[in-house]
Amino acid sequence: MPVRPAPSLHPAVDPLADASFMEAVVAGAARLTPEQGLRLLRDMPLADLGMWADRRCREIHGDHVRTYVIDRNINYTNVCTAKCTFCAFRRDAGDSDAYTLSYDTLLKKIEELVAIGGTQILMQGGMNPELPLGWYLDLLREIKRRFPQVHVHAFSPPEFVEFVNFFDPPGATYEEKVRGIMTQLKEAGLASVPGGGGEIFAPAVRSKIGLGKCTAEAWLTTMYVAHELGMNTSSTMMFGHIEGHADRVHHMDMTRRWQDRAIADFSAQGGGRYKAFISWPFQRENTPLGRAKEWGQGPGDDLSQPFPGDAVANLDGSGTKDTHPEFGRRVRMAGATEYLRTQATSRLYLDNVHSIGSSWVTMGPHVGQVGLRFGANDMGSVMMEENVVSSAGTVHCLNEPLLCRLIRDAGFLPAQRNNAYDLLKVHDGPDSPDLRVKDWSEFRSKPMHQEAPRAQKPADAVPLTVTAASMPAKA
Ligand code: SF4
Repeated sequence: MPVRPAPSLHPAVDPLADASFMEAVVAGAARLTPEQGLRLLRDMPLADLGMWADRRCREIHGDHVRTYVIDRNINYTNVCTAKCTFCAFRRDAGDSDAYTLSYDTLLKKIEELVAIGGTQILMQGGMNPELPLGWYLDLLREIKRRFPQVHVHAFSPPEFVEFVNFFDPPGATYEEKVRGIMTQLKEAGLASVPGGGGEIFAPAVRSKIGLGKCTAEAWLTTMYVAHELGMNTSSTMMFGHIEGHADRVHHMDMTRRWQDRAIADFSAQGGGRYKAFISWPFQRENTPLGRAKEWGQGPGDDLSQPFPGDAVANLDGSGTKDTHPEFGRRVRMAGATEYLRTQATSRLYLDNVHSIGSSWVTMGPHVGQVGLRFGANDMGSVMMEENVVSSAGTVHCLNEPLLCRLIRDAGFLPAQRNNAYDLLKVHDGPDSPDLRVKDWSEFRSKPMHQEAPRAQKPADAVPLTVTAASMPAKA
């Protein structure tokens, strides 16, 4: 197979003034610099930005098929040592609604997933110091024994950082330690690592919003080790809070740099890589950060001056929090337009990442659908269950027919994929899930796959202390 030349950089070009440069970006022949990425994000007219991102998406994924996956988010515990200010999900161990799911409950959830044709679980939790390493290893082995066909996409980098802290494995560096733990989890059944906890990589922002959460260096190193071990991962970004626009581009740039590194270091030996990038706006309900005032509504706010996050942010991530007195105290929430701009920029910037996911879960089904014309090729999961962003006020739930209809109405053939983005079923015939539906009103009138109200403790959650009785019988 011919090797494609690496895309070239043209830092002197203004991407808004040179359509031939944007044509080269679409073709994968030119690469955006951080300055050019910021120029697109801030200044390119929305429809133009969407058009270029759509064309880049079509270059990679073709004109016809857009995908989704049937999986289930399983949040095995809400006990967490971190106190991220944007989080409404976490609990302290002593809280009345703190929970850790029993193995029986976890396995039942997977059984329900398999019954509707699901292919993977996305399993993440809070960082619970009461769970020993054996709890995770035995759980993975049991899942593999009972459901060998199910892909286990689990444990985001912040969890790995805490695994290293909790279990203190041998090794001189974080990289060595996490490699030891990740190798054991992989042997027990872990197949890939989700990109949770990416938030914003720039230290000034990260240290303000992610109290007790891992550094960007640790997050990126964890993923680098996953790639070394042959596992694919995703990268995520949560924006629309205290960060500046340059922080978003810096975040994309770090993903692109570490992806370059992983491909150079590991692809010849079958290594993994970031398969997807998914970004979404901060959801403010029930969160400490959500109580911060919108920029312009606080005493002394002067809208003729830059937003504090923009005053602090640098494209190399070097901004310092002392640059603006209101940094971290004012938010700039992102609506649909800002979401689409950010997603489209990510498609154009991340020339080495295969998939861009549309976040209908946070933006709602129809903005998510429009996202398919703003650079996204994938609608993510049917979301049988979601407990984290839904704790912060997001309640969008879809089933397979609705998800397929959204994709078809956007002008594409819906197709179910697996974690590797291989197509499992292309719905091009009359038996497609959406085409079988005659009465859509019934589908719209009730919530789909929604779990119990957030304030309720799951009925079968186990006490927080792990005992031999809460471990599964050895296979
Ligand atoms: S976002 Fe994750 S790491 Fe942060 S407090 Fe919530 S559960 Fe813990």
